[in-house]
Amino acid sequence: MDIGIKIKKVKRGNARIRKGKYYITMPQWAMDRSEAYWIYYLCHELAHVTCHQLCHHFDHNDEFKMIEDVYLEDFGMTVVRCKAYPKTLTLFGKVVYRK
Ligand SMILES: [Zn+2]
Repeated sequence: MDIGIKIKKVKRGNARIRKGKYYITMPQWAMDRSEAYWIYYLCHELAHVTCHQLCHHFDHNDEFKMIEDVYLEDFGMTVVRCKAYPKTLTLFGKVVYRK
């Protein structure tokens, strides 16, 4: 699969499909926050792409959260969410972000 990823000075990132190709926009501030947060954010957007392929939506529903959890687990991360976004992030059991 071909995914275009851009890093931009935007308030929020997103994942979109256009003409059969997926595009992810990552906000610069997520990269500046920490490497762990950046990985979380990329997993979040990749979960949107996977969820769109499998379930045909970009929603933050239970299917999306299950996919996001699998990607995060691959990096040794867990998330406690407030709605769709992280309240607490851990990396190998250590808290790396808390809202
Ligand atoms: Zn999202």
